[in-house]
Amino acid sequence: MTRQKAFWAALYLLLMLLPMLVGEWAARASGLERRPWLDEWASGLGMIGFALVLLSFFLLGRFKPLSGWLGSDLLMQTHQLFARTAVLLLLLHPFFYSLWHAPRGPVSASTAEVLRIDGSSWGLITGVLALGCLLVLVASAIWRQRSDTPYERWRLMHSALALAVLGLGLHHTLVSGRYAQLGAVAAVWWALAGLALLSWVRVYLVRPLWQGAHPYRIEKLERCADRIWLLEIAPRSPEGAHFRAGQFAWLKLGHRWPHRDNPFSISNAPVAGGRVQFLIKEAGDMTRGLTQHAVGESAYLDGPHGRFEIPADATAVVMHAGGIGVVPFVSLLTDAVARQERRPLRLIYADKHRDQMVDVVALSGASALPDFQLLPMVEQSDAAWEGLTGRLDANGLAQALAHPAVAPVADTACHLVCGPEPMMDAIETALVARGVPPVRVFSEHFKYDFSGQSPLAKRMRHVWWGLSAASLLGLVLALAWR
Ligand SMILES: Cc1cc2nc3c(=O)[nH]c(=O)nc-3n(C[C@H](O)[C@H](O)[C@H](O)COP(=O)(O)OP(=O)(O)OC[C@H]3O[C@@H](n4cnc5c(N)ncnc54)[C@H](O)[C@@H]3O)c2cc1C
Repeated sequence: MTRQKAFWAALYLLLMLLPMLVGEWAARASGLERRPWLDEWASGLGMIGFALVLLSFFLLGRFKPLSGWLGSDLLMQTHQLFARTAVLLLLLHPFFYSLWHAPRGPVSASTAEVLRIDGSSWGLITGVLALGCLLVLVASAIWRQRSDTPYERWRLMHSALALAVLGLGLHHTLVSGRYAQLGAVAAVWWALAGLALLSWVRVYLVRPLWQGAHPYRIEKLERCADRIWLLEIAPRSPEGAHFRAGQFAWLKLGHRWPHRDNPFSISNAPVAGGRVQFLIKEAGDMTRGLTQHAVGESAYLDGPHGRFEIPADATAVVMHAGGIGVVPFVSLLTDAVARQERRPLRLIYADKHRDQMVDVVALSGASALPDFQLLPMVEQSDAAWEGLTGRLDANGLAQALAHPAVAPVADTACHLVCGPEPMMDAIETALVARGVPPVRVFSEHFKYDFSGQSPLAKRMRHVWWGLSAASLLGLVLALAWR
């Protein structure tokens, strides 16, 4: 783990535990009466779970420094994994209360007082509603791929439900939370909820308004391969996006609806005047409707985001592209040309058929690089094909890495991977099995809901387990501290 990632992981852990730690401190300071340990566990689980929910908003707030440091893959995975942890903790939260173990009969006045569930309190109702919304939120995200729900509709529902969880959860916490009755703890909850709300408002209100004041203009829209379009936009105002090669941006064409923007990797390198190019493959509503837009129409950009770059300390780089996953590499190669890069660069570029492949060398000017080699690979070749034939999986990779142009650098190079999920899994797994250290393999996913079976994805899940376990350890220590 790099220092930056370790820093963010530590900060995340601290924020996750903050309400509970402040609660412990404030309870001691005010001499708050202790409850049975099960009740304290229940409160602790609820506090960690809700803190995780609030931190999720921040992760998705499209804060450029955050996505620029961690990359979009890591942010999305963290969001998805921690949302699952939050659901688990919050589901357990009500069932730990000693109330369930009490002898049958009406809830005693003192228990009700301790749990703050007296009839005048709405806290219990908002808690149940918040949990229900959270369950629907997470379940619909996990099963989105298997349902026919259009992405935009799902996203609208996702953001509305998230807001409901925020409001209902905060009400429940402040009204029913025993520790939240202490001023310091309430202040922490307000601060975390404020941060979460600001992140939401930023994505759905502030950024769209800002984009309206900084529109782009479509300069070029032309076909450059089967179902792939080159789109070029330029800022209407003097100030355009400042991006690094390999980054992506959220794009809107001809409208400013906040929930209808799509992420696309930028395919050019930074140029004076802020011109931005994309290579877009037809996939669904937005991408198939590209041709309905015309030169001169307005476009809106939120970005740049992400981090997918040639590491400064790489001695050589092997890029593995599947299909439209070639786009960030076009950008990196264009930038390499501008920087007069001298390190060995290899691009293994696979697709089903050659008609679906873009002309990477023409687009990037990579022929000017002193040590660059393109290895195209197609599944269906004909007699005129001079590249590799096959699928870019473990076998295809072995074939490509054995090629005389790649073999000398393959084991010492940094490997950058972008393409469809099965290809990425296969390449990452094969590279690590070959002995390439995972820290020298970098990936960018075009789909957020990736299951990830490769060693890299598993490593990420280990960090998740580690942080989840650490948060529960924090709970145990806080209880033992008394
Ligand atoms: C970081 C990143 C970079 C990408 N770069 C490129 C690129 O350079 N070129 C390219 O052709 N494609 C790229 N994609 C994929 C592209 O975003 C989708 O193909 C596109 O959004 C599909 O939109 P649609 O309305 O045409 O299809 P839909 O049918 O609406 O969506 C098809 C699938 O695309 C994904 N998707 C759709 N909308 C969004 C959204 N707003 N946010 C996240 N995912 C969404 C979903 O998984 C969805 O199931 C990238 C994706 C990501 C996450």
